[in-house]
Order: sequence, then structure tokens, then C-alpha cells
Amino acid sequence: MGYLDLDTKMDRKLERLQQQAREFGLQVVRPAGIALDKLHDPADVIAEGSLLWDVFRQFREAGLHKTMIPKAYGGTMGSVSPLAAPLVNEQMGYADGGLAVSLLVSVMPFAFAILSPHREIRRWAADYAHDTSGKLIGCWAITEPDHGTDWVMGTCSEGCHPSMAPGLTAVKKGDEYIVNGAKSAWVSNGTIATHAVLHVGLDPSKGIHGSGLALCPLDLPGITRGAPLNKIGQRALNQGEIFFTDVKLPKKYMLLPSPGFFGKNVFGHTFLGVANSSMGVTFASQAQATLDLALDYAGNTRRNGKLLADKKDVRLRLFRMFAKVEAARLLARKVSAHFFSLSSSPVSPITASKASFWAISKALQAYFAVYEKSGTVRNWSRKYTEGPEEPTPLMEWGKYGVVSKITATETALHVAEEAMKLFGEDALSPDCPIEKMLRDARASTVEDGVNDALAIATSESL
Ligand SMILES: Cc1cc2nc3c(=O)[nH]c(=O)nc-3n(C[C@H](O)[C@H](O)[C@H](O)COP(=O)(O)OP(=O)(O)OC[C@H]3O[C@@H](n4cnc5c(N)ncnc54)[C@H](O)[C@@H]3O)c2cc1C
Repeated sequence: MGYLDLDTKMDRKLERLQQQAREFGLQVVRPAGIALDKLHDPADVIAEGSLLWDVFRQFREAGLHKTMIPKAYGGTMGSVSPLAAPLVNEQMGYADGGLAVSLLVSVMPFAFAILSPHREIRRWAADYAHDTSGKLIGCWAITEPDHGTDWVMGTCSEGCHPSMAPGLTAVKKGDEYIVNGAKSAWVSNGTIATHAVLHVGLDPSKGIHGSGLALCPLDLPGITRGAPLNKIGQRALNQGEIFFTDVKLPKKYMLLPSPGFFGKNVFGHTFLGVANSSMGVTFASQAQATLDLALDYAGNTRRNGKLLADKKDVRLRLFRMFAKVEAARLLARKVSAHFFSLSSSPVSPITASKASFWAISKALQAYFAVYEKSGTVRNWSRKYTEGPEEPTPLMEWGKYGVVSKITATETALHVAEEAMKLFGEDALSPDCPIEKMLRDARASTVEDGVNDALAIATSESL
């Protein structure tokens, strides 16, 4: 089935990128996802010679990993339309939801590195942009064995309760932090990542609001990994625990050293909004892939001598699926493109500190430079995380990212269930592509926050 691209902002360059990502997705990512899904032991997904490594390497060779790294660091952000990143994410989601997440989350520490006041850490972004072998892999280590939804709830008022305090702590001693604790088995790329965006507890009396954010190389002494996680959905996505025992983390790696940043403002709604908006495009597109399989099946399967597609009730079911997918797809792309346009707009640092992620990063760099000398950033962080604060456009935008993620993942699940009904007994065969779509979509409703918890937390900002 052909889809009209209702987005009028698509130029030739974007159409070529979309086409390149689509071909890569269908030729490399989808077959790898199907093969990796069938492996009984999740350790085989990451074994030497696994198709996973071909996916990572070829994704980098094709340059598709550069859309979230600014041009100044060797990426394409800022030099191509803000739609570029959502379009690539869409096509990866269309090919395989689990691998799409693995490729997407991999950029996080390297994209965040540009926020660091330290040139050496900012270089990570350039190293990632130039890595064509796939040896640099990132993860977002936030969930802990006892704190999953607490991180989502941490973005609203109840997050300041001490019972919500992260179990993984970082205690400052001289020029380093001593890190102890564990991140849960659900960390995507957890057992293969080389670098992490790491959420740490700095002040337990403030609950989740007392946490800080580190950019952590994962080869430091005292860091160990768990076994790759076994699960029913997104089986191609590697996940696993990361343990920290008396890890000495040099203070330069603590990106946000002031407890309070993960309050409801800057790193609450912004963080969730950013992550959730990418989940939105990925899983709206997975829903579209499921719909396409259903259309193909209906157009090629005969019952009582009649094509399924010629039966009115089947067509009604397909149309309702189509309507939901289009609504989710358009919302997700709009929200994600809006975020990336905020991220890459080159505006003046002063007005931009109220307007864009890019500028927040610039402002942070400046504040951290001052902090090194006087501790000013502590006051700034307090200003942003305590008391009533006029929300910036980026914070306001965060709730749309959550809406997009919930809509897309619930659409992906609904469409997979409808397709299961259409496929009848064929749906129950392990070789039927729909049952994998159902399992992958089910996982997405928990990933990046359980949907109901996201809705409850975000309702505070309405
Ligand atoms: C495919 C996948 C990928 C993931 N990738 C990552 C990753 O890259 N990095 C990472 O750190 N984590 C990752 N996660 C973990 C994910 O973020 C958590 O699973 C999720 O936040 C829920 O946490 P939990 O599983 O501990 O559930 P719990 O917190 O134990 O919650 C269980 C149930 O109780 C409800 N509940 C709990 N507390 C409250 C409350 N206060 N108010 C209302 N309801 C509540 C929840 O909504 C849920 O229904 C991933 C998960 C999946 C499935």
C-alpha cells in the first residue's frame, strides 16, 4: 500500500534520506530482527558473529546515526531539516521495533556529551559521528531494581519523597564520586554499551528530585554487567543489569552535579518528552508495518473462494486500523520534528535559553564553567527545580512527547491485536509475522515508562 506523505516540508534531500533508511531497514534490519527474535538464548543475540553487529556496523557505515549529532561534531543535525532524525527513526521502527530502540538509545551519551564543559567529553560526540565500526554503543541507565515507575513519578511533586530516592548513589570525595548500586536488567543495550547516561542519587532526602546525571564510560574499575535479559518482546534488543561497586567516577563526568535537576521542570518534562517523542515515531511506524502485513494478507488470502479483502467486514476492520495508524503517525512525526527543530535552531543564547534544547545546552556549558569557580550553578538549578517556575516552550512541549508515545504504542498494540483476528488460525503459528509485532508492541507500552504512569505524571502539567 502506498501512503501519501502529508508533510509538505519534505524536500528532495529528505525524500532521499527516507528512501535510503527505508531500504536499509527492509534489507538489513527487518531480516536481522526476525532471525534474532528466534534465538532461544539472549546471549546469542550479542555473540560474536551475530547479525546484531552487522546491523550496528552497516547503520554507521550508511551515516544514518548522525542525525542527532550537531554538524560541528561531525553529525548532520543543523545542516539538514529537523525532520531527518524522525524520518530515520520511523524507518527503523517500520523494520523492527527492538532493533530501532537499540540503534536509537545508542546515541544518547554521545548526543548529551555536547552539554559538558569539558572538551575531552564533548569529543565523544565527534568520536561517535565518525565511528563506522559500531564499537561505540550508548545506553540510558535510569531504571533500578526497586525504582522503575518511581522515575516517571519523580517528574511530578511526589518525586521529592525520600522513599523515592535512587538506590544507586554517588558520594563526592575530593575530585571524584564514589558510585555504588545497580541499574536494572531492563536497561536497553545494558550488557553491550560502552557509555551510559547514568542517573545517580546525590541527596536521598530529596527522593528522585535529589538525583544528578553523569556521563559514564562503562569500562571503569568496579563496573560489571548481568546476563542478557530474556523476554517475550523486542528480543533483538539487548538488555541487562549494570552493577557499580565502589566505582571512582572523576567529577568531570558528573554532567549535572546539583541535586534537583530531575525535578518537574528542565529534566523532568524535557527528558521524558524527548525520549517519548522518539518512541512515538518508532512505534507509530511499527503499527504501520503491522497494517501493511494485514493488507497484504487480506489481498492474497482466499476463503470460500473470495479474497478476504473483498469482504466488507474485513475492509471495515482494515480501514479502522488505517485511521488509527495515520492519526498516530502524523502526531508522532509532528511532535518529534518540533523537538528536533527546537534542538537545532541556531538562535541567540539569551532568547534560546527559553526556547531550545540546543540553547539550554549552551547555557548549561556557561553555567558549569562558572560553577567550576563559584558554585553558581547550584543557585541556577534551585531556581529551575523549586518553587513556581514559568515553563519554557521546551518544558511545555514535553507533555506532547508523552501523548505521542502513549498514542503510538497503544495503536501498535491495538493494530497487532486486530491483525491477529484477521489472520485467524494462521496468527497462532510461530512463523506468522504478526505475533512478533504483538509481542514487540506489548513491550513498548512499558518501555520508557508504563503508559498509565506516564499519563498520571504528565497530567500535573496540564
Ligand atoms: C523494552 C523495554 C526497554 C526498556 N529500556 C530501558 C532503558 O533503556 N533504560 C532504562 O533505564 N529502563 C528501561 N526500561 C525499563 C522501563 O522504563 C521500566 O520497566 C518502566 O519504567 C516500569 O518500571 P518497572 O518495570 O519497574 O515497573 P514498576 O515500577 O514495578 O511498576 C509496576 C506497575 O505498578 C504501577 N505503579 C508503580 N508505581 C506507581 C505509582 N507511584 N503510581 C501509579 N502506578 C504505579 C506501574 O504503572 C506498573 O503498572 C525498559 C523496559 C522495557 C520493557
